[in-house]
Amino acid sequence: MTQSASAIRRRGLSLEYKVPLLITFLLAAMLALSVGLAYNEVRKSTLLAANERIQRIANQLAELAQASATAQQETMREVAADADVHALLANADSATITDAAETLAGLRSSMDTILPIEVWRTPTGDVAYALPPFDGQTGARSAEPAVLPDSGGYGPIHEIDGRTFYWSAAPIKEGDETVGYIAQLRRIGTTAGADEIEDLVGPRAAIYFLNATDGPWTSLEGEVIDAPATGVGAGPVDYTGGDGTRYTGYAAPIAGTPWLLLVELPLDAVLAPVSVFLQRLAMALFALILIGAAGAWLLSRGFIRPLKDLSFAAGAIAGGDYSRRVRVARGDEIGELGEAFNRMSAQVEEAHSDLQHQFMESQELADELEHANDQMQVVMADMEVAREDAEKASRAKSDFLATISHEIRTPINAIIGYTDLLLMELQGPLTADQKDHLERVRASGRHLVRLIDEVLDLARIESGQVQIDFQRGSSADAITNALSLLQPQAAEKSLTVEFEGADDGEIPYQGDPKRVEQIIVNMLANAVKFTDTGGRVTITRNLHRGTESSNASDPPTLFITVEDTGIGIPADKHEEIFEPFVQAETGYTRGHGGAGLGLAISRKFARIMGGDLTVQSAEGRGSTFTLRLPAAPS
Ligand code: ADP
Repeated sequence: MTQSASAIRRRGLSLEYKVPLLITFLLAAMLALSVGLAYNEVRKSTLLAANERIQRIANQLAELAQASATAQQETMREVAADADVHALLANADSATITDAAETLAGLRSSMDTILPIEVWRTPTGDVAYALPPFDGQTGARSAEPAVLPDSGGYGPIHEIDGRTFYWSAAPIKEGDETVGYIAQLRRIGTTAGADEIEDLVGPRAAIYFLNATDGPWTSLEGEVIDAPATGVGAGPVDYTGGDGTRYTGYAAPIAGTPWLLLVELPLDAVLAPVSVFLQRLAMALFALILIGAAGAWLLSRGFIRPLKDLSFAAGAIAGGDYSRRVRVARGDEIGELGEAFNRMSAQVEEAHSDLQHQFMESQELADELEHANDQMQVVMADMEVAREDAEKASRAKSDFLATISHEIRTPINAIIGYTDLLLMELQGPLTADQKDHLERVRASGRHLVRLIDEVLDLARIESGQVQIDFQRGSSADAITNALSLLQPQAAEKSLTVEFEGADDGEIPYQGDPKRVEQIIVNMLANAVKFTDTGGRVTITRNLHRGTESSNASDPPTLFITVEDTGIGIPADKHEEIFEPFVQAETGYTRGHGGAGLGLAISRKFARIMGGDLTVQSAEGRGSTFTLRLPAAPS
């Protein structure tokens, strides 16, 4: 009881909570997974769209920049073809310089009034003329050769004192031969265009100019900034700024120049709408989970409540309340379960009441039995008293018999003794008649002594006082002794007495030799007594396993038979003759003497020793008596 209760407790959380928790968990996991996937997709496509947009803008701006560069180059080439410039190159005197300076001044823009515009001579490369404020600066070029586009066009962006510049150059041709260049140092970037471009690309976008090879990054306004990435080529780029902000951008090459135009956008700006989407989705998800959890709880309550009721009812029945039923208010499988449970409880209740009834009946029966038992105890106690009384009486009888037999035997022995003395004729000779009478007296005396011995034996056996001395005895000795005792009587009647198999060796038995001999003497005496003159008495002995049939597992048994050709015994007397004082034929037996005790005593002794004495006989055709005794190991 306690064990099962603790087992129930150990089961933990009720299904009523477990099921909705599980459903909620699964729902949350599923939704989280799908949100994760959706977020990923949205993020990817947003990034893709942003990159495409940036690329488009970068390409457009690069085209604009290219157009302006082409226009500028055009102007320079026109100036390079001017006769004034050629004249200056041919002969630089004050007149040609004045004319050329006027022409060259046309190249000046408001942004770079102080930057050099020079006329170079080839192949020496020295400066033929430089526009003010670099007047008369003939000789060395202002620019490093590395940044000069010798074939005309644009040089790479380079930095001077925190500002970025580039050289623009146009060849001066004399026929097909290049005789010199017009070279102008220019600043990159305009503040004028910056606002418009910002309108175009959005407030968080930034635009930079940079060399296709490498070098400083320049903002639209012409400021140099620390390059956040190196080795940037044309195409999409990703990098992390100095403050850790991540950027995505696109670098478009500006045709006709060695420059790139890069448009960048901070990643967080690109992904801002995705974050908003994620937040909204998360809120929707949370609401969904709440609704799902509530639904799951209601559903599980609908299932678990009836099961709980069933469980309580089953508990009540287990506790002995057999009248307990559950309420069935639904038609589905759970309702069916409830109905089945109620039917089952009704059967249990009925079976229990039957059992109780039977129990009461058996209780009554047990009471009656106990009563009977008590009565039996009383009877048994009475019987015990009676048995003790009987035993006492039997002992008294035996004592009496022993005493009496002693008292009788003493005078008879005296009679026999004196008769013997007389027959020895010590007191004088006797006549034949006297002798005959004395011999009859002696025979009667002996008969009486034997009778008394037999009565005494019987009394002892019946009162359980007989002493049996179990030992290993010789069957041949027992038979030979008995034969020698009976030989004279047999000879008197001219009977043939044979001991068959006398030389077969020893077959020992387990028993009291004195009693065994007494039994054989009795068997032989009867055979001699009830066989007419000239008859035959045969003794045999055999060893068999078992009592009747030969069975290897039975103990070995010795069989001694005495067969005669005498008068036989009628079939209806076969058992009776083993009763004390019974003789088969009263009239005839009287003629043979005896009290009918020999067989009774013999059988009792045989049985006490674990054997038996039996007879096979037919009237007028002789008798066979068989003594059975447990054989001793030879
Ligand atoms: P008894 O002293 O009379 O011989 P037993 O008990 O020895 O007493 O025998 C009982 C009776 O059984 C005998 O009186 C006789 O009628 C019968 N009986 C015993 N042995 C034989 C036998 N070998 N042949 C015929 N009858 C016998």
